[in-house]
Amino acid sequence: MVAKTGSHYEVIVIGAGVAGIYQIKRLVDLGMNATVIEAASGLGGTWYSNRYPGARFDSESYTYGYSFSKELLDEWHWKEHFSAQPENLRYLNHVADKFDLRRHMQFNCRVEAAHFDEAENIWRLQINDGRTLTCRFLVMGLGLLSIPTLPRLEGMESFKGRSFHTFHWPHEKLDLSDKKVAIIGTGATGIQVIGEIADKVGHLTVFQRRPNWSAPLNNGPISEKEMAAIRADYDEIFATCARTPGGFVHEPDRRGFYEVPREERVALWDRLYRTPGFAIWLANFREIFMDEKANAEFSEYIADRIRQRVKDPKVAEKLIPKDHGFGVQRVPMETNYFEAYNRDNVELVDISETPLVRVTETGLRTSERDYDVDIIIYATGFDAITGAYDRIDIRGIGGQTLREKWKDGPSTYLGIFIHGFPNLIMPNGPQSGSASTNYPRGIETGVDWCTALLKHIRANGYVRAEATQEAEDQWTRHVNDMYAMMLMRRAKSWFTGYNSNVAGHEEGRFRPMIYNGGAPKYVRRINRVAGNDYEGVTFSGAAPVASAAS
Ligand code: NAP
Repeated sequence: MVAKTGSHYEVIVIGAGVAGIYQIKRLVDLGMNATVIEAASGLGGTWYSNRYPGARFDSESYTYGYSFSKELLDEWHWKEHFSAQPENLRYLNHVADKFDLRRHMQFNCRVEAAHFDEAENIWRLQINDGRTLTCRFLVMGLGLLSIPTLPRLEGMESFKGRSFHTFHWPHEKLDLSDKKVAIIGTGATGIQVIGEIADKVGHLTVFQRRPNWSAPLNNGPISEKEMAAIRADYDEIFATCARTPGGFVHEPDRRGFYEVPREERVALWDRLYRTPGFAIWLANFREIFMDEKANAEFSEYIADRIRQRVKDPKVAEKLIPKDHGFGVQRVPMETNYFEAYNRDNVELVDISETPLVRVTETGLRTSERDYDVDIIIYATGFDAITGAYDRIDIRGIGGQTLREKWKDGPSTYLGIFIHGFPNLIMPNGPQSGSASTNYPRGIETGVDWCTALLKHIRANGYVRAEATQEAEDQWTRHVNDMYAMMLMRRAKSWFTGYNSNVAGHEEGRFRPMIYNGGAPKYVRRINRVAGNDYEGVTFSGAAPVASAAS
């Protein structure tokens, strides 16, 4: 028997982040009996949690906002080209309030388990408050970077000062002045934090294992006049995002790398280095992603930029990656990052030379010496893409766990369905278009598609939808093939499932985490699937609509 009304929903969405907010809007508009279950005490997902100094978009703000409501686009004024976390959270709360979505959200509720009931064709969810909720369809709005990971260092509990992961940066104001601060990690997060706090702390010691290629964000304010022009141009802005591989306003330079003389290449790079946002990465020659020689030449150009900006040549060399080329890992965008190392109060410790040995009561110990500090900041990244799925006990047909199915990497159909897990859909899942592009653009595509699917299911009175094994195998092979031509395949980063702090992910074995075919190709493919009666998905049951949820 399906559980009684009050604990049963037609659809449960897990996560009140950018995806969950839009998904519930679409479901409410359809009049569906739906709710969002969120573990945090507020909405906003990544922008609720990541409150560290320097946290901001590296997507142009006006490409990050939702596009579904003209009224919303017309009333919102983005204050900066790359808006900071407090404003981003304010925006998401504004959206929820404007469309009266908060009453469809349940906060401080963590889904501990989700088991598929084959007899009833429903999902049974165990919530941490002791409730069991059921739903016909389960929509995963889980964050792709929402499970922070700490180093596995001895003595972490013994530290007497304050320590936290950037994801858990204290909500109350933290005074860093006169404090001795250590930060571990120089990914996109660490680079944002370091650039922002270097001139605000007493002393900052950066513990760097591997440097990352990074380039200026070139942020700036948006005036009323500029915002009016952006509003008038929204249609074109979103159309540009839709036709570019990354879902950004930056279109690749389609000229052949080797057909353009070296001076012209350098002139382009000089211009891109001054251009805001990811232009340096995404408006570059396409060869830098695929051709080692082209990538090496461009990487050397960026290395020279670092040498020009960092006064101490020895420090500059330490900040230049040697094990991978520019752009084969996610490129952190920086503001004053390299200049931070010119300050007397900032010190770089290369822990690839002198590894961290343990945390002590007073700080950090490397193989060389002790560093006494007041605060340790762990900017050590996430159990990316599949981590949030692994944290829930998800069981499908025959009790198979998703954790076990995905232990060597995810396999999906379109990044939306998982064979063996009927009625579970992922608008921004692993191997989907949104995982590799400007998130909200991909998320809107994914949510719209999943909403149309649910509408189709309801119209036909289906009670069960599941991808075939064949469709999943074919898609996962395709995702693999897309990596094959990319230099990123060999990089040790979350794009390929590497994380030294997660058991099983530390050895750097390749996992096909994201779809690299680009947004237009992805959208064409999922639209073709929908147009062909959802080929690759089997539907069953033709129960009258009313009986599906009662
Ligand atoms: P990350 O890119 O995975 O970087 C983690 C850093 O911590 C790396 O430098 C890593 O070194 C280091 N590290 C990890 N474990 C360590 C250990 N045990 N000992 C020493 N060092 C260790 O994580 P992230 O910087 O949080 O960024 C993750 C993603 O979040 C980004 O790629 C981006 O997609 C997103 N993000 C977005 C924004 C934005 O949009 N504005 C901002 C921040 C982050 P190794 O390189 O040697 O592993």
